[in-house]
This record gives sequence, structure tokens and C-alpha cells, in this order.
Amino acid sequence: MNVQKNIQEIKENIPANVRLIAVSKFHDNYEILKAYEAGHKIFGESRVQELIKKQPDLPKDIEWHFVGRLQRNKVKFIVPFVECIHSVDSKRLLLQIERQAAAVDRIIPCLLQIHIAEEDTKTGFSEAECWDFLSQGKWKEYKHVQISGLMGMATYTDKEEKVRGEFKKLRTFFDKVKGHFFANTPYFKELSMGMSSDYEIAVEEGCTLIRVGTKIFGERE
Ligand SMILES: *Cc1c(COP(=O)(O)O)cnc(C)c1O
Repeated sequence: MNVQKNIQEIKENIPANVRLIAVSKFHDNYEILKAYEAGHKIFGESRVQELIKKQPDLPKDIEWHFVGRLQRNKVKFIVPFVECIHSVDSKRLLLQIERQAAAVDRIIPCLLQIHIAEEDTKTGFSEAECWDFLSQGKWKEYKHVQISGLMGMATYTDKEEKVRGEFKKLRTFFDKVKGHFFANTPYFKELSMGMSSDYEIAVEEGCTLIRVGTKIFGERE
């Protein structure tokens, strides 16, 4: 895999306001360093054990994003260094991040994951649950997490119109949430959607972060 070339091609195809997260799960530090040495600094991982094994041996100015399902008892392992958690799918998880981030005196940007796909295997708040949670207002007391936007994963299908419809719906919900709860909150600005198979559609539908693995590093074993 020509990691450098793949990253360059993706970057040339996305607007300047969209950031690329190179999802390096299942790929070793040698591959990650190839991307790093080509100037890429933002990486994503989806499993805690794997991330904490890799991170100590890699350059400290890498910006790590956690994108996978996160168990509450593992939060403490990643809060000391992670720059963003994309996959907050319950209020209990957000509370745990608040507590653990407080313990290490950090503020962690977090995205609320919204269930937009057909598949039940993908997690996240429904729009109604997310709205309820935000309405309850408890999160306003949290000083160590910043709700910085939303994340979603579309149905895995080659039916472009279906994927586009799901992204469009999430973008609409994002605008509604922003207007109602975060109108005066500049840091609520991230919409994380789009992977190898659908990031071009996500970009057209207004995302700000894309999470791409296979298109950069090749198939996972
Ligand atoms: C693995 C993963 C990705 C990247 O998937 P690719 O299809 O390889 O680009 C993106 N987001 C999440 C949450 C992932 O787990």
C-alpha cells in the first residue's frame, strides 16, 4: 500500500474545512509512521487495548481520535492523551469521561454518536434520545468534556441514495441541535461522517471530519 499517495489523493479531493482522520486500526506502527512522515498527524483507533499498545511508541504530536465503541471501564486508559472521542453513545459514558478527564485535569472534546443506519449492530443515540439528553441539561455542569458535535455511520450498502439520505438527515439534525442548544458555542462545530466507501457523499452532505481506514492502509486482516 502506498500510504503516502493514498492520503494525498484523499486530501486533494476534500475541501479545506474537512479534516481527514486516518483510521489505523489493525495496522502497525510502521504503517502509521509512513503516514506521519508524509506529514499526516491525525489518526483514529477503535479499540482501547490496541491504541494504548501503539501510542507510547509513536510521536507525541499525533492527534489521536477514538472512534469505536467505548466501554466505561476503559475510559481511564485513553483520557490522558486522546484529543477527541467520536463515539459517545450514552449519558453514562459521557459522565465517566467527565470524571476521568477531571482526574487528569484535561478537557476532552466529545461527539455524540447518532444511530442513523438500518443495521442494529451500529450503536448510538436515536435523535429523540439525544434531544432528551440535551434537554435535561446535566451536561452543562461538566467542565472536562466539551460536546463538540455529532457522529454517525451510514448503512453499509452500495445504494448511494440510501447513504446520502442518512447523511442528509444527520446534517439536518446537527443544524437543529446547534441552533437549539449550542448557538453560542463555537466549539460545537464537528460533524463526523464518512468512511472509505462513502466519504465523498459525506463531504457533499456537509461533514467536517471523515474517518478513513481501508482507502489509506489497505484491507484489514
Ligand atoms: C474502522 C472504522 C472506520 C474506517 O473504516 P474504513 O471503511 O476502513 O474506512 C471509520 N469509523 C469507525 C467508527 C471505524 O470503526
